[in-house]
Amino acid sequence: MQRAVVVFSGGQDSTTCLIQAMKQYQEVHCITFDYGQRHRAEIEVAEKLVKQLGVKAHKVLDATLLNELAISSLTRDNIPVPTQVNNGIPNTFVPGRNVLFLTLAAIYAYQVEAEAVITGVCETDFSGYPDCRDEFVKSLNASVNLGMASNIRFETPLMWLNKAETWALADYYHHLDTIRHNTLTCYNGIQGDGCGECPACHLRQNGLEQYMSHKEAVMLDLKKKTGLS
Ligand SMILES: [Zn+2]
Repeated sequence: MQRAVVVFSGGQDSTTCLIQAMKQYQEVHCITFDYGQRHRAEIEVAEKLVKQLGVKAHKVLDATLLNELAISSLTRDNIPVPTQVNNGIPNTFVPGRNVLFLTLAAIYAYQVEAEAVITGVCETDFSGYPDCRDEFVKSLNASVNLGMASNIRFETPLMWLNKAETWALADYYHHLDTIRHNTLTCYNGIQGDGCGECPACHLRQNGLEQYMSHKEAVMLDLKKKTGLS
């Protein structure tokens, strides 16, 4: 049985990874982390999407200890979310989040005997998050396998795609509208097209506009990068 665990937040990127995983694996498990995030709606959105897409196993795991340790505008109501991207690490960065999430997902994968952990992190549209870098993911992958004597593979299908190509990937699987209307990426917690003002909304909208205005060219780039036919 080819089995994979998708780290699933209900956002554009992880939902696109989930849709692809369901085509590539016989059994897919989703794992969603409750870290006391500012927008509780994220977890409800994730639960709805899992049902809509027909995923059989969905684990919502309590990771609220992260909220106690990691101070960020995504874990504290009194820190405003920035409207622009500046140089350096933004205050939406939650230190240790992907260290913790990928480690916990790997432990879960070990238990259910999954061969892969899939995450939607991306280095191309780099938001300044050090834990979205390829080097970090590869390094942690090696560490968890050493620590559990396992052979779990961390997969990052979006690592080298830009946002327009991520939209193309959703369209490739005929799920562009699912992603557009039913996911939540916005830092201000608004589903679908979002608030339109936060950096996450800008990235998402610019990518969508770019894809819609150059569909064929972007799809061609996606196929070249991913080997999809
Ligand atoms: Zn927004």
